[in-house]
Amino acid sequence: MQSSIVDGLVDLARTGFSSAILNDFRTEMLTRFGSEADQDREHDHQQAVRGVTGWRLLDDGMWRCEATLTPTDKAVVDAAITALAAPQPADDGTTDTRSPAARRADALVTLCGIASGQDTTGPMGATTRVTLTLPVEALTGEAAAHDELGTPLLPAAARELSCGATLTTVVLGVHGEPLQVGREHRTATAAQRRALAVRDRGCTFPGCDAPPSWTQAHHITHWIDGGATDLDNLALLCHRHHRSVHRYRITGAVRDDGSGVDWDVVRTGLGWRPPPPPDPWTRAA
Ligand SMILES: [Zn+2]
Ligand SMILES: [Zn+2]
Repeated sequence: MQSSIVDGLVDLARTGFSSAILNDFRTEMLTRFGSEADQDREHDHQQAVRGVTGWRLLDDGMWRCEATLTPTDKAVVDAAITALAAPQPADDGTTDTRSPAARRADALVTLCGIASGQDTTGPMGATTRVTLTLPVEALTGEAAAHDELGTPLLPAAARELSCGATLTTVVLGVHGEPLQVGREHRTATAAQRRALAVRDRGCTFPGCDAPPSWTQAHHITHWIDGGATDLDNLALLCHRHHRSVHRYRITGAVRDDGSGVDWDVVRTGLGWRPPPPPDPWTRAA
């Protein structure tokens, strides 16, 4: 059977069936009646149209990316995202309030984080890490930041990314011209990451059991605030909790005996948050 006949049948049926049913039918027909040449043509078509098409900026500052994948590539990507996207109820049984779509988005970013944690380099020596060129003011919240690919970032996001990014800070002149550019090593070394994996055994946030390979090394006191890239200032956090720690300015400390990290948080209806400031009336009494 010619694949053009299959296409014709699919066209005929298209008016009344879902694309999933049509796809099942098409695959069944090609398998049962298609020649090897038909299947080769199908393979060539899949290879020709696959792609990740550019990032589209939405009105609210979010980004949409569209991927067209072959069935085998879809199976690989879907399995990896699904495995990492399971709900994560807290240890006290509180349910994970993220939507399934949000959990898959977090899983995709975790997967990319795992790749960047490997210190892998791509073709032409490109690093898998985010590269940031920032005015120092971007980390202190006095100016917006952009990554090397032009993505604008709010200060909390710039600080979160700079924990694991290859970072170049620039000092800008009064008209925004770069006056001084310096490259400094601000991320944990491979040896430090190995030591953290032994000490923290994964994400250090309360109730999280993400393994070390899913985590990033976070600076408890950010280096812009004088924190050093030393073991007693580093803590492993998964992508989700790393984002929370930066978003809510959560502080913590490595225990004196080096057995792990304690975060200064209390359980609220919305999840773990920093403790509220002391009530001035209580203090006065
Ligand atoms: Zn961090
Ligand atoms: Zn975590």
